[in-house]
Amino acid sequence: MTDRTVANATCLGCGCACDDITVVVKQDRIADARNACALGAAWFGDGTVPTETRVNGRSASLEQALTEAAGLLTGATHPLVYLAGDLSCETQREAVAIADRLHAALDSLAATAATAVLAAQRRGRAGATLGEIRQRADLVVFWAVDPSTRYPRYGSRYAVEPRGVAAPQGRNSRTLIAVDVGEALGPADADGRVALAPADEVDSLEMMRATVQGRAVGKDARFQPAVDLARRMTEARYVVIVADSEPGPVPADPARAEALVTLAQALNSPTRCALSTLRGGGNRSGADAVLTWQTGFPFAVDFARGYPSYRPQADAAALLGAGEVDAALVVGSPATLPEPVATPLARVRSVAIGPRASAATFRPAVAVDTGRAGIHEGGTAFRMDDVPLPLRPSLAGERSALDTVHALRDRLGA
Ligand code: SF4
Repeated sequence: MTDRTVANATCLGCGCACDDITVVVKQDRIADARNACALGAAWFGDGTVPTETRVNGRSASLEQALTEAAGLLTGATHPLVYLAGDLSCETQREAVAIADRLHAALDSLAATAATAVLAAQRRGRAGATLGEIRQRADLVVFWAVDPSTRYPRYGSRYAVEPRGVAAPQGRNSRTLIAVDVGEALGPADADGRVALAPADEVDSLEMMRATVQGRAVGKDARFQPAVDLARRMTEARYVVIVADSEPGPVPADPARAEALVTLAQALNSPTRCALSTLRGGGNRSGADAVLTWQTGFPFAVDFARGYPSYRPQADAAALLGAGEVDAALVVGSPATLPEPVATPLARVRSVAIGPRASAATFRPAVAVDTGRAGIHEGGTAFRMDDVPLPLRPSLAGERSALDTVHALRDRLGA
């Protein structure tokens, strides 16, 4: 046992993927994760994970588990491969190869942001890296989100406090506007606020876009604060619209996602504007990237025809809910599964490989515990702005998810 520190570790507790964490290891346990927020500290924990291998509820060897898993998956007619959280891109890639071999449906946590992804596919995207936002933004509009809850260091590392080339005084060089939509509130310390009724949100965004484009918008008092905000945005040097693309208090609305994209695009005529969509942790943005470069599609891929096809209306939750899956392979932390996926998984025979797989609530027939990417395994993960980052493991000795999924792939001849 060697006490040590690991500098520049990357946290996957949320999509910020902070890569400035110093992990302090004492007696083979994580004693501290310096610079991490409370959410990040909880994600690192003390680094301990269970090390069980189970087949039908009983302890088994890895060989037995892989044999049982291969038989279960090849015997299925409509298998599903699902990428949960806390995996490196390298492991995600192995799982995609298995889905291809099985002619399976393939989906991931990235599907939780489906409305934003589909809006970008239809309309394009006016985005920026978080580094560019840090350097250039002088007007930050938080659209129905306060990042301090689910993305705690987004403000201190990127959009609010840091000094940048065009924001030499950091927070004092920037203006923050909170757009409150019903109960979805922006930051409490914003410099200005606009309140919208949820029913008026999409129309307000359209009115804002019309204002930016110089079109007449009438004088409906309901929309005047939004119209005034749009005029103010055209006068800024660099606007950032920050919106949450993960499930929250406001149901995901395709029209809303598309209206945010098109407003950001329109603002790039009179000024510069980026839409910053907040993503959750566990390297879900990496799953999006890996599926895209391996199959051509970011989520809801179907290999049933022997080649990848895109079925965004038939994601894992929809397939499981409709009873169209007869076996599943879940790779990654089962604890990160969205409820509409986790609950129906209990009705099919499944294999789980990943951190705390043996504790999965859907009771997999085969469960293989592994380490967690970023703590026990290296590799690559993607930040919410699609920037790839290296993972620097601080603890060794746990079973590797990459090696385990690769071994299953070998068993399947993929
Ligand atoms: S903001 Fe997110 S990535 Fe950064 S330390 Fe906190 S949980 Fe981890």
